[in-house]
Amino acid sequence: MSDLLAIDEALELVLGRVRPLPAEDVPVAGAAGRVLAEDARAQVDLPPFDSSAMDGYAVRAADTPGRLRLVGHAAAGRPFASAVEPGTCVEISTGAVVPDGADAVVPVEQAVVHGGEVELGEAAAGAHVRKRGGDVRRGAVVVPAGTRLGPPQLGALAAAGAAAVRCARRPLLALVATGTELRQPGEQLRPGEIYESNSVLISAQAASAGARVEVLEPVADDSARTRAVLERALDADVVVTTGGVSVGPHDLVRATLADLGAEEVLWRVAMRPGKPVAFAVRGSTLVFGLPGNPVSALVGFELFVRPALLALQGARDPAPPYRTGVLGAAVVCNAARESLVRARTSVADGDVVLEPLGRQESHMIVGAAEADALVRVERGDGRLEAGARVRYLAL
Ligand code: AMP
Ligand code: MG
Repeated sequence: MSDLLAIDEALELVLGRVRPLPAEDVPVAGAAGRVLAEDARAQVDLPPFDSSAMDGYAVRAADTPGRLRLVGHAAAGRPFASAVEPGTCVEISTGAVVPDGADAVVPVEQAVVHGGEVELGEAAAGAHVRKRGGDVRRGAVVVPAGTRLGPPQLGALAAAGAAAVRCARRPLLALVATGTELRQPGEQLRPGEIYESNSVLISAQAASAGARVEVLEPVADDSARTRAVLERALDADVVVTTGGVSVGPHDLVRATLADLGAEEVLWRVAMRPGKPVAFAVRGSTLVFGLPGNPVSALVGFELFVRPALLALQGARDPAPPYRTGVLGAAVVCNAARESLVRARTSVADGDVVLEPLGRQESHMIVGAAEADALVRVERGDGRLEAGARVRYLAL
């Protein structure tokens, strides 16, 4: 049909060139978004002791229901010093150590105090007691290697006593926008010029994928300038360029990369937008030449650069996390290329419904700004009708 690589083939070629970065110690408090290089194990049993799940009275279950002598108090961090003997109880608060001898807690709502005695309702053995190690045992895996750490994982690591964890180093990504026509927002546009938007777009995407980003100065379509800036960029773990990878006389990126000793692994993928994407390697540096149209750059980043950044960090499943939903309106398929259609999601009858947006051309970044999903529409001659089940990426 065509000589273009399919998206999935191209992704495989990219991921095949990724070698995970070395690991370093990272304080848990600063590890949000980092990927664990090794299993993180519990330093303690969690909970570390049998503890009360309620405010109430620690008892021997066999003594209940009944009237028991109150012999002391146990609060969180302040254990009761001795044991609960038959016929006695200890006032206890949530999170306190359940004293020796006691095997249940009667909630305060089921207790009536009469001077030094408490009338207590019935409790089964184990009632309202959180067992030591009930969440995790000391030495067991709290979070497995390859997991990207989010708030629940960070909380779990801290609870299990981890002060620091081993994570892959964050990749350094050097970003180079190319195009003589580019001006910075805030500057005055002269005839034929446009504002440079890919640097902020891709910086934000890269940061959300865990990279440190260095934005180099945008370069005009000039061989010497392009070469000088790319040479510096190639010291990074990942280089992303935008623009200049098509077939025009001013598209200099691929030739310059070749000149600098980068090996081109692929060029042009059967996708729309973003076809002229290029991928090359030099040493351990991965180089992505994304097309200049902002929506093409956005899509190319999500399909190839983000997975590569996650793989560099050792993520277990770096490929784009496609979900399924149903089309809210028909879309026309392209015979030669898969389409990444910008869409807006809603939920109806328990399904995610994807409403394709207008303004689908690859320069229409403002149109794309309304989207929260990229729908993957396979190649074909006809169209996909409303209600068709499709894969999509959340944006
Ligand atoms: P190119 O891939 O260099 O042929 O560029 C394709 C289109 O994207 C042209 O209309 C460029 O002006 C535009 N473009 C290239 N780079 C950028 C950029 N950094 N920000 C916004 N538009 C760009
Ligand atoms: Mg250009």
